[in-house]
Amino acid sequence: MIPDDDMPLLCHRCGADLTPGKGNFYVVRIEALADPTGPRFDDEAAGWSAEDIDAEINALIDEMKDLSEQDMMDQIFRRLTIHLCSRCYREWIENPTGN
Ligand SMILES: [Zn+2]
Repeated sequence: MIPDDDMPLLCHRCGADLTPGKGNFYVVRIEALADPTGPRFDDEAAGWSAEDIDAEINALIDEMKDLSEQDMMDQIFRRLTIHLCSRCYREWIENPTGN
C-alpha cells in the first residue's frame, strides 16, 4: 500500500504524524491464515457412520449459509497493512502478541 500524498499518514497506535521519506516509521504487513491443514476425520471420526459424517457436514454448511463470501474469506485469510512510528514499532515488535 503506497500512501496517498493527500492523506496524512498516522501511526496506527499513537496517532503520530508520519512523514514518508523521513524514515521515521515502519510499514507492518500482517497475513493471518487459518490452519491450512485439511480437516482430519481419521482420528475423531474413526467410529462414525456415513450418516454421522453427513450430519456433521450438513451442520457445517448450515453454519456457513448466513455468511457472505467475504465473511467466509475473512475467516480464512486476512491481510492488513499498518503504519507504526519508530517508537511504537520498537515496543510492538518486541511483543507483537501483546502478552
Ligand atoms: Zn506511534
